Amino acid sequence: MSFLTIGDLGLAYCHFKEGESMKIKRIISQHRRDFTAMYECEHCGHEDQGSGYDDSHFHKNVIPQMKCKECGKTAGDDYRPLGTKYSASAVV
Ligand SMILES: [Zn+2]
Repeated sequence: MSFLTIGDLGLAYCHFKEGESMKIKRIISQHRRDFTAMYECEHCGHEDQGSGYDDSHFHKNVIPQMKCKECGKTAGDDYRPLGTKYSASAVV
């Protein structure tokens, strides 16, 4: 049984920040695994305070699904992972 810490959260943030819509800008408070954070939209810069649960599922699956209240975008709407449109050897 392992528990993530704020430090782990920082690592998770670094790992997932590219291509996500809403991302964690900073942690406001944390009680055990429940935390309150300020999220920031990658598209329009809108900031929104919200709660979260500090585990890998939340970071991998929940945060990318968050919809920005300002511009309505999620990571899935226009996110194109780098390297998947053309293969490295493709001639375009
Ligand atoms: Zn937005």
